Amino acid sequence: DTDKLKRLKTSKSSTLDGTPIELMANIELLGDVDAVKAAGAHGVGLFRSEFLFLNRSDLPSEDEQYESYKAVAEALDGKPVTIRTLDLGADKQAPWGHNVADNPALGLRAIRLCLAEPGLFQTQLRAILRASIHGQVRILIPMLVSFMELRQTLQRIDEAKDSLRRDGLKFDEGIPLGGMIEVPAAALSAGFFAEQLDFLSIGTNDLIQYTLAIDRADDSVSHLYDPLHPAVLNLIQYTLRAGAKAGKPVSVCGEMAGDPLLTRLLLGLGLRTFSMQPASLLQVKQQILKSHLEALTPMAQRLLKNTDPDKTALLLNRLNS
Ligand code: PEP
Ligand code: MG
Repeated sequence: DTDKLKRLKTSKSSTLDGTPIELMANIELLGDVDAVKAAGAHGVGLFRSEFLFLNRSDLPSEDEQYESYKAVAEALDGKPVTIRTLDLGADKQAPWGHNVADNPALGLRAIRLCLAEPGLFQTQLRAILRASIHGQVRILIPMLVSFMELRQTLQRIDEAKDSLRRDGLKFDEGIPLGGMIEVPAAALSAGFFAEQLDFLSIGTNDLIQYTLAIDRADDSVSHLYDPLHPAVLNLIQYTLRAGAKAGKPVSVCGEMAGDPLLTRLLLGLGLRTFSMQPASLLQVKQQILKSHLEALTPMAQRLLKNTDPDKTALLLNRLNS
């Protein structure tokens, strides 16, 4: 019941064998920070900054963005906030945006759009960097696929830092930079991305869409949108292992992280940092508190190798009981 759940807010987040698990929250606007605190989250693992750009006809200026990011950083009282750079396009079209292509999910979206619009990207990067002295700010890049994109992104960030130095404006010189793993090509290249970046975050909403070729917004194929498809689980595990090998933290910030029925499976695949909508956090924590990691690992492997659709529910049940 809800009272029992609420009491979990302040309890330590770790498995029965004492492994600490980090529980972060996803937010879209400053107003969501209250819910983050109410859930006792360790910080914000995904701030979807594009919501500042939606439902308006003009672009937010650098100062307006700076004020918004600063307000979130300050409201979190020193807890980390991971600001994702603009993820516009596809399912999040801005009214002033580009012509919608026939295949928007495969088109100019997220980091592709930002690299094609240097002014737009510089404005946001400067705003995030300026806000970084007001809290523990991290930058997260959506939809990375190619190595050239990563190189260009790093260059743009260096340029933004240089321009701030020239203007005599302060920022956190050591601001951590992470990349989202949302496309199979990125997951299979996770070792490279992990070496180049400070952290990774798996966006399972898009990773499922691109792995299974299922439009995440198309109801006619929603029955095929399957987080338990072994190909999806393999890509998640592969990414987690690549991060561990490079010594870089990897989180999951897609909807899978907030589904308490999948908590144990993700723990078994090696996940130690979850980021989800604040409303799911205590339920996920409840699962973690009664989980034995050692038992979960072999059971997760069984699900990952399962090709019998009749057995999936049974294997998941066993994992959760
Ligand atoms: C994801 O793709 O899983 C994700 C977290 O990003 P969004 O849902 O905003 O595309
Ligand atoms: Mg995404």
